[in-house]
Amino acid sequence: MIIKRKKLIVKYKNLGIDIDGILRNFVGSVERVYKEHYPEHKVLDRSDYDLKTWFPIGGKIYDFVFKDNVKEIYLYAKPYPHALRFMEYLEDLGYKVVIVTSQPNEDCVYYTKKWLEKHEVYYDKLIFESQKYKVENIDVLLDDSTKNLNEFAETDRLAVCMNRPWNKDYEGPRVKTYKQFIEMVQNGRTN
Ligand SMILES: [Mg+2]
Repeated sequence: MIIKRKKLIVKYKNLGIDIDGILRNFVGSVERVYKEHYPEHKVLDRSDYDLKTWFPIGGKIYDFVFKDNVKEIYLYAKPYPHALRFMEYLEDLGYKVVIVTSQPNEDCVYYTKKWLEKHEVYYDKLIFESQKYKVENIDVLLDDSTKNLNEFAETDRLAVCMNRPWNKDYEGPRVKTYKQFIEMVQNGRTN
């Protein structure tokens, strides 16, 4: 029996990986701390990327998250299940892993670095950038923000969406698990 082997074409080498919504369960941490402060409030909506629609305090959520409770939310957020192993596995597979994250202020940057240290997250390079499409030397972006993904896709690179309740409007390639993402970059599939 002859087994046809697919010719291995290394299409993608340098991977851009987002943190919040991809590796770190940021919104889970926001909800946890929010409930401690407002135990009687209910989460209104998880379908919008903008946190101000999620909670009864509306736009006050920005100060709540990025200023008043930044350490508690950022540092004590949990990694998503298998996130740490996923990053190690990318290294094992020989990819260059560039973490690309957008953070609104210096405290968020500081506690994000601390979080990465705390969990000994594997990566080659860490870039803080709100306009992710401007980051050169990455072939692929794994992100949960429709805006970031659309802008990145416009540069003719592969923008892969991690399926979350707040990014249903992204129409490009989408994965539900880290395994599916690895398969996509290995096979060059775009759904
Ligand atoms: Mg994100």
